[in-house]
Amino acid sequence: MHVPFCSPGKCRYCDFYSVPREEGLEALFLRALRREAETAGAGVAPRTIYVGGGTPTALSELSLLMLFEALSVFSRHALEEFTVEANPGTFGAAKAELMRNGGADRISIGVQSFDDGVLRFLGRHHTAREAVEAVRIARRAGFENVSLDLISDVPGTGREDWRGELEAAVALEPDHISVYSLTQEPGTPLHAAMERGEFEPFDPDESAARMELTASFLESHGYGRYEISNYALPGRECAHNRIYWRNGPVLGLGPSAVTFDGRTRTRNVADVEGYVRALERGERPAVFSETLAARRLAGETAMLMLRRREGIVRSEFLAVTGEDPFSLYAETIADLESQGLLERDGESARIPPSRMALADHVALHFIETGE
Ligand code: SF4
Repeated sequence: MHVPFCSPGKCRYCDFYSVPREEGLEALFLRALRREAETAGAGVAPRTIYVGGGTPTALSELSLLMLFEALSVFSRHALEEFTVEANPGTFGAAKAELMRNGGADRISIGVQSFDDGVLRFLGRHHTAREAVEAVRIARRAGFENVSLDLISDVPGTGREDWRGELEAAVALEPDHISVYSLTQEPGTPLHAAMERGEFEPFDPDESAARMELTASFLESHGYGRYEISNYALPGRECAHNRIYWRNGPVLGLGPSAVTFDGRTRTRNVADVEGYVRALERGERPAVFSETLAARRLAGETAMLMLRRREGIVRSEFLAVTGEDPFSLYAETIADLESQGLLERDGESARIPPSRMALADHVALHFIETGE
């Protein structure tokens, strides 16, 4: 579920769809969301629920309550995991409690950095102290499964600064840590600042070195790398993301949310007002739909699975695409294996941990072969 608001406004690097929170629009959005959940969610018993955005905690307490009520249309009998994202700038004990009472059992906190200078550079609307406090609040509210997001490769920071970020994260004893590299997406204020020459793009070799440092540091502290950017204590891997990286079916709710039924991908309109209008007219808020040809489905599935520690697993790939990856990609796999970019046994083919920085390059071979 995509909550389309951020408060008080957007971070400098972000190109996800969200608008500043505004009370009237928030009420209309929640009414529309309820309608969408009732229509699209009838009879659906999800294995996981993920409430993200945008910023779920940008909503008022009353609105959060209404959001959780809208989710009550889903049967919970198959539910394994229920995650909600929280932003330290708009999070407190009351919202934490409310989300726990609404059934959320996992919380993902957008810490991003423990350095106020870095947070200012990123245009985040909270301090490092508030981020640390958010973790404590979540624990006190009874969240036993806590994840932190960090952003690496911030221009102007040194490798030792980055090690300090990792030390600060581990000191909070989260169950799960996601580390995403900062990218300058066209159209964002950060990209414009780079174009104006305010800072240099991050050196790719240094980026690869920090990725290695991240992996060795977190693994030495008990966090297994189960996906290129994700680390977890044993048993704390995110079930929701594991479905996504297997190219499994997802029902997306809210503006800009994407639904995938295993063949057809549909995207909702990235505009809160358009979303509200469509649902008030009794229409679906979708604006884009494509059915993937078999080759494209296979290519995307390979690309997603290669991000995982276990890589492409034959039985899973077969279940999603109906194809045997070792026949379909026999040449590509042999070629990448000879270059040391893949290792395989009878049932799976994966990128060796030391070559994970090249995952995008490796994945491209499957997309090209698959087209
Ligand atoms: S809080 Fe998250 S969704 Fe909102 S602008 Fe910042 S990064 Fe983007």
